[in-house]
Amino acid sequence: MRMPDKHAFLSPSSSERWFNCTKSAWLCEQFPDLGSVFAAEGTDAHRLCEFLLHDMLGMPDTDPRPGMTYYNQEMEEAAQGYVQFIREKLEAWKAKGALPTVFVEQRVDLRAYIPESMGTSDCVIIADDEIEIIDFKYGMYRVPATSLQLRIYALGACELFRNLYDFTRVRMTIYQPRLGAVDEASMDVEELYRWAAEELKPRAELAFAGQGNYSVGEWCRNCRARRTCRELAAHQLEIAKYEFTEPPLLSDEEIADVLGRVDDLVSWATGVKEYALQAALDGRRFAGWKLVEGKSVRKFTDDACVAARVEAAGIDPFEKKMLGLTALEKKLGKRDFQNLLADLVVRSQGKPVLVPVSDKRAEMNLASVEFAAENDMKEVNNHE
Ligand code: SF4
Repeated sequence: MRMPDKHAFLSPSSSERWFNCTKSAWLCEQFPDLGSVFAAEGTDAHRLCEFLLHDMLGMPDTDPRPGMTYYNQEMEEAAQGYVQFIREKLEAWKAKGALPTVFVEQRVDLRAYIPESMGTSDCVIIADDEIEIIDFKYGMYRVPATSLQLRIYALGACELFRNLYDFTRVRMTIYQPRLGAVDEASMDVEELYRWAAEELKPRAELAFAGQGNYSVGEWCRNCRARRTCRELAAHQLEIAKYEFTEPPLLSDEEIADVLGRVDDLVSWATGVKEYALQAALDGRRFAGWKLVEGKSVRKFTDDACVAARVEAAGIDPFEKKMLGLTALEKKLGKRDFQNLLADLVVRSQGKPVLVPVSDKRAEMNLASVEFAAENDMKEVNNHE
């Protein structure tokens, strides 16, 4: 086994995975980190937040916007909202007579609890008896304030500052502008250290040593080994047992079980297909399978030339089409979109979808669905 990259091996951002599935840490080392557009977008958004926060605090920094790949109005508003959120926190402390201290993009050393691990906290505020760690998340996947990653950053910040300040409570806050979500959790610093000593450190040491267990859960989503992991495959293929059970028809309980697993199964199977295609393109052979050319589509080689010829033939080759709602909102930014078009937006009734009872949405009223369906039918009949 190749020695892992020291700072990425047990990183706070992948802690949900290696804490729960300790053996995944070494397994992931066999796969390159290919990054993603979302990660690159998040990096730009974080850098913008850092700059705007420095600006708000009167600290020198260079405007990174001109060199950013993913900068747009939506990112600007998200970052501005984050800075405003922190400004309000500072003002609230000052209103209480406290003198808050702010640290931006604070590097923290986690090695006392997690071998060879470091991390960076987006923002740390210390005031009175409290230390607060604020994490900006630009992604669309909701992360709770109780996440391991934030708790680990909190631990790192406590380690860094505990000899300098007298705080006894730690607050962990996640700011997710694209979901309109802010989540907060807090605990005693002592309790955090107890958790770190009794749970985090032993799990991190197991993961670093390549010991412990494989364990399937939500964290598999971010695992580089997920496409070929045997443990995950066995878990996903458990669903296949229903093909062979008696009696011949599935019971409602079995259907409920399949419903709870089918999305993960489809996403896992799609991942395996993508992985196998890439491996085949790289020269691997899978018994009974071969690479062929897929369906091809016709396309123009030179759009401008096509337009000129069609216009010369007396036909307008262009169609004028309005941007869709999401594209317009992105272009205008949320605030201008709201001011300009809010009264022209309606939300149609969503199609029925089966979700677990734990889902936050209210259960649909079947009577109103039938009523709407009947009205649709009447309309169709009236038009016929
Ligand atoms: S896919 Fe899941 S079970 Fe397999 S190694 Fe990764 S985290 Fe562990």
